[in-house]
Amino acid sequence: MTEPVTVYIGIGSNMGDRQAYCEEAVRLISGFSKTSLITVSSLYETAPLEMIDQDWFINCVAAVRTTLTPPELLRACQEVEQFLGRKRSVRYGPRTIDLDILFYDDRIVREADLTIPHPRAHERRFVLEPLAEIAPELEHPALRKTASQLLKGMRNHQDVRRLAPFHLKQKAG
Ligand code: ADP
Ligand code: MG
Repeated sequence: MTEPVTVYIGIGSNMGDRQAYCEEAVRLISGFSKTSLITVSSLYETAPLEMIDQDWFINCVAAVRTTLTPPELLRACQEVEQFLGRKRSVRYGPRTIDLDILFYDDRIVREADLTIPHPRAHERRFVLEPLAEIAPELEHPALRKTASQLLKGMRNHQDVRRLAPFHLKQKAG
């Protein structure tokens, strides 16, 4: 029996009812096998970065405890993306939902289809703001800096506005 590890998952949407997509993603994550939800950051509204001619995103970060392996977790996240109808046509373009495995315990993973820590987590304010809210002391296993240190050290600007605290909606019925 393996011990559960703590994993941080970044969630983002910039199409349709963005908040509903994020909430539904968290609900589905909390239903993953061998996984329990610990906490979710507030929702943040964030300006698009790479392709700026698109709508603002809503982002949040969820912390879970899991015994799923990294590839199992990636597959589960991709099933949620498929289920919530993510269009994969344009890289960095609009998407109903994007799930990124940001950190998996303090593991470093470098596979063809999976890099952990997520290679751009430390340079994205839309990741670091919600992450520092729920895990300010979490240390990046390669950069050896905490989430709040990485956030404070950021140079590039991105508009990030904290919206509401997260409320996990129970499905009626
Ligand atoms: P981004 O999230 O950087 O905007 P995409 O979501 O379009 O880019 O990238 C999807 C691909 O990224 C997937 O095919 C997946 O295999 C790969 N990938 C690599 N590392 C990770 C990770 N840590 N979490 C999620 N996907 C990852
Ligand atoms: Mg992604």
